Amino acid sequence: MKVLLLGGTGEARRLAEVLAAEHDVVSSLAGRTGDARLPVGEVRQGGFGGVEGLTAWLAEHGVEAVVDATHPFAATMTAHAVAATSALDLPLLVLRRPGWREQPGDTWHWAGDAAAAATRLPELGQRVFLTIGRQGLAAFADTGLWTLARCVDPPDPLPTWCELLLDRGPYVLAAELELLQSRRIDVLVTKNSGGDMTAAKLTAARDLGIPVVLIERPPLPPGIAVAETTDEVRAWLAQ
Ligand code: NAP
Repeated sequence: MKVLLLGGTGEARRLAEVLAAEHDVVSSLAGRTGDARLPVGEVRQGGFGGVEGLTAWLAEHGVEAVVDATHPFAATMTAHAVAATSALDLPLLVLRRPGWREQPGDTWHWAGDAAAAATRLPELGQRVFLTIGRQGLAAFADTGLWTLARCVDPPDPLPTWCELLLDRGPYVLAAELELLQSRRIDVLVTKNSGGDMTAAKLTAARDLGIPVVLIERPPLPPGIAVAETTDEVRAWLAQ
């Protein structure tokens, strides 16, 4: 079966490897991250040009099914996938890793978006560690709090109101503990991305008694089919 796999995540890379033996898979990346780790098999990079562009691409390439394995916060791409597959009457499955769950010892505060997270900060701490990627950083520019922001790629333009740490996961607990302690961080901000690759910061915050502000995931479009594992995707495609 000809499958378009919308990627940009570790799950999508692993899925491409598994599906390669069973289907004709094209992985798609937004192409914004320098030095992106490419999945195995055929890869295309760059936006499609909105719903219209995606619809045309799917038709032109004879795609029979779409698997959206984009990041839980890549809501625009998911909405476009829903619109384009419904226009062509193609099956669509979203592969979504589970969100993180609060554990004993955690002090978590939920925020609907980056702006809401920023307004919570002054009551929670003075030295902020922002791990929300480069999009959404601007919402924190006026908190007046000392801020360390960790991103994979440099934001453009470079922010002048925070210290920038360019790094790419996976992150390990010992290094996260060292970072939080050496920079005297007293509040952490993250998106509820889920997954193991970036979860060590939450364990470190728990161990050090540091509060965490979590930005909630955008909701999935109603009625959409969702899988949580590679095996569920394989079974869905086999049907
Ligand atoms: P987004 O806001 O949902 O999408 C913005 C636009 O980027 C889309 O309209 C589409 O452009 C293009 N695009 C996004 N994903 C694409 C893909 N897999 N293949 C081709 N074009 C794609 O996405 P985003 O939040 O900027 O994320 C961009 C990529 O980074 C995604 O693939 C996502 O999986 C990955 N990522 C995102 C985050 C995050 O926190 N948002 C974290 C880690 C990785 P057109 O309209 O021109 O088609």
